Amino acid sequence: MSLEYKVRSEILNKLIYMDNAATTKIDEKVFNKMKPYLIGNYGNPSSIHSLGRKAKQTIDDSRFKIANLLNVSFKELYFTSGATESNNWAIKKIAEYNKANGNHIITSKIEHPSVLETCKYLEKKGFKVTYIDVDKEGIVKVDDVKSAINSDTILVSIMMVNNEIGTIQPIEEISKLIKDTNIVFHVDAVQAIGKIDFDIEALGIDSMSISGHKFNGPKGIGLLYLKKGVAIESLIHGGSQERNLRAGTENVHNIVGFAKALEISQNSITKNNEIILDNRNYMITKLNNEFDNIVFNGNLKKALPSIINIGIKDVSSEALMMNLDIEGICVSSGSACASGSMGQSHVIKALEVDSNYGIIRFSLSKDNTREEVEYVIDKLNMIINRLR
Ligand code: PMP
Repeated sequence: MSLEYKVRSEILNKLIYMDNAATTKIDEKVFNKMKPYLIGNYGNPSSIHSLGRKAKQTIDDSRFKIANLLNVSFKELYFTSGATESNNWAIKKIAEYNKANGNHIITSKIEHPSVLETCKYLEKKGFKVTYIDVDKEGIVKVDDVKSAINSDTILVSIMMVNNEIGTIQPIEEISKLIKDTNIVFHVDAVQAIGKIDFDIEALGIDSMSISGHKFNGPKGIGLLYLKKGVAIESLIHGGSQERNLRAGTENVHNIVGFAKALEISQNSITKNNEIILDNRNYMITKLNNEFDNIVFNGNLKKALPSIINIGIKDVSSEALMMNLDIEGICVSSGSACASGSMGQSHVIKALEVDSNYGIIRFSLSKDNTREEVEYVIDKLNMIINRLR
C-alpha cells in the first residue's frame, strides 16, 4: 500500500459506503437482539436441558416470525449458511430428485455465480443447461424461456433482481409459463427481499433463496423457502436439524438477527425506498448533466432504486475504483477479479457493453445522505478528469 494511499484514507474519519448490494451493516437493533444468544443463552438447540430448550424455542419463534413476514408457512422455511448454500442446495438437489423426469435446466446468463457455477457442476454430472440471453438492458425475455422449455425440462432458475445492475426480472410471467407443468421454479431473491414488496405464493415461486447480510442482518445466515410439495433431499448430511433436511448445529444468534432484520426491512420498504429514490434521481441527474461519455447499464425503469451501474468511457474500472477508494468511497466495479486482473463481469458482457467503458456500481442505502452523493459526484468528476 502506498504511503499516499494510506495517509489519505486515514485522514477521512468517515467512509462513504455505497456498496450495499455487496453487503450491509448490521442494524443496531438487530445486533442488540443477537447479543444475549452469544453470551447468556448459548445452549445447543438439540440439548434437552433448559438452555437447549430455550434455544430451540428461539429458533421456532424466529421461523414463525419470518413465515408471517413472508406470508408462507413456517414448515416451508429452512435455515442455511447463506444464499450460496441455498442456491446450491435447491438447484443440485431439485435437479437430482427429478432426474427421472428429465435432465434439462434453464437459467439466465446474468445469474449470481452461486447459480451459474452450480449449473456448470450439474452439466458435468450429465444435466443439460440452457443459459438464456438477456436483452441489452439486462432483462430476461420471457419468450426465450418459453422456447427453451422442452419435455426434459425439470427446473427453471431465474433471479428476481440482478445484483450488478439492479434489473427486476419478469418472475410472474415466467412462473405462468410453467404453472401447470412439473417444472420447479427456483428464484434467487437475495437482492429483492426487504427492498420490493412481493407475495411469494402469488408469484408462483416453488423455491427461493435469501441472505441475511443484504438487509442489515448478520452474515452467514440464509434461508431456503421450499413450497409445500416440492421434494428435495439434504445437501449437508449429519444430525437431524431442520427437520432432517439440513444438518449442523443451528446458528441461533444469527437466526434471531435474521428474523429481526427481516422484520425491520420488510416494514420499512416504502420509507427506505423514498429516501433512496430521492438520492438516486438526484445522482442520475447530476451524472447526466455533469459527465460526458457515460452510459447507464441496465434498465432504469425496471430496477431497484438502490443500484446505479454506470460505464465511463476511456477510463478503466480498476483506476476508478482505486481512486474512489483513496477518497474514502466504497463502491464496486461489478467486475470479476480473475488472477489479479479485472475484466468485464459476466453481467456486463451479457449486456454487450463496449469494453472501453470502465464500470462502477453504486448501491445506495437509506443511510446515504445528499451530502454524500454530492461528495461522490465531485470526487468522481475530479478523478475522471485526472484519468482522461
Ligand atoms: N445471489 C445474489 C443475487 C447475491 O447478490 C448474492 C450475494 N452477493 C448471493 C446470491 C450469495 O449470497 P451469500 O453471500 O449469502 O452467499
